[in-house]
Amino acid sequence: MNFKDILGQQMSLKLLQKDIAAGNLPGAYLFSGPPGVGKKMAAISFAKALNCEKNGIDGCNRCSSCIRIDKLNHPNLRIVTPEGDSIRIDQIRELKEEAGYKMYEKGKRVWIIDDAEKLTIEAANSLLKILEEPPTDLTVVLVSSAAWLLPSTIVSRCRVVNFLPLKKEYIGKILMKKDNVPEKLVPLISHLSQGSVSEALKLLEEKTIFQEREKIIQLLKEKKLSQSIFDLSERWNNQKKSVVETLLNITIFFLRDILILKLDPSFPTINQDKINELIEIKDNYSFAELYTGIEAVENSRSLIQANVSTRLVVEGMWMRIFS
Ligand SMILES: [Zn+2]
Repeated sequence: MNFKDILGQQMSLKLLQKDIAAGNLPGAYLFSGPPGVGKKMAAISFAKALNCEKNGIDGCNRCSSCIRIDKLNHPNLRIVTPEGDSIRIDQIRELKEEAGYKMYEKGKRVWIIDDAEKLTIEAANSLLKILEEPPTDLTVVLVSSAAWLLPSTIVSRCRVVNFLPLKKEYIGKILMKKDNVPEKLVPLISHLSQGSVSEALKLLEEKTIFQEREKIIQLLKEKKLSQSIFDLSERWNNQKKSVVETLLNITIFFLRDILILKLDPSFPTINQDKINELIEIKDNYSFAELYTGIEAVENSRSLIQANVSTRLVVEGMWMRIFS
């Protein structure tokens, strides 16, 4: 892995590579952005480039230094992660003690502090001392998806590099490379991922969401007011808002796909694993019904955000879809 393997973060990576080329690095960076968008990969790739024997602006992946960084087994690289809920002062002290020793190898020491918002106040203060006067052979990279929780004294010592949510196309490309992601689910998962690979992978494990997805398509096939609507509304009522939000999105994507299949079947659908079932029911829905349905789901989203009872909102939504 090197900078080239990180998709969708060109701006941030360019900034880092410019710093490497200039050879004048600040003592500390803060890689900030949502979870699952490549921040930690970028931090490791950064350490790799700074220690690569080829001295380029990206790791070569072949020299002994790059290979050892891949194995996370290089004396110049240290990665600190929370032990339990926090990063404690003794974890930082251990690093600082090591910084006092002579370096075994040329290159640059890189400390990656992952989930840096979990530093305890004591640990943050201890780290601050080294950030105030960083040794020239050290670069600290704080990685955080909740940077607003970091003390401002720390943030002000860092060059902040922002990582953005990934576009769906990049999420799709990353998921396609993974063995455990069914290809036909890639478009759906990318659309539901909110720009985060870790969120996308988490969704695949959410059995409830996939069970409810089956119930949704079943309702759309039956297209009638029945007890199933009340049962479904009751079940959704017991779910967290974030799960309901995902289920509303799934409902919209089904309606959208039916609409697309009616308009232009050559256009890519989101629910590729359900394509045959959707083709079977597309003629049961008029354009007007589909537009009304999509609007009903959008309205439900706002009502649930505004704390109206999920059960009532979802019941009303299905009644409008089938009206
Ligand atoms: Zn190398």
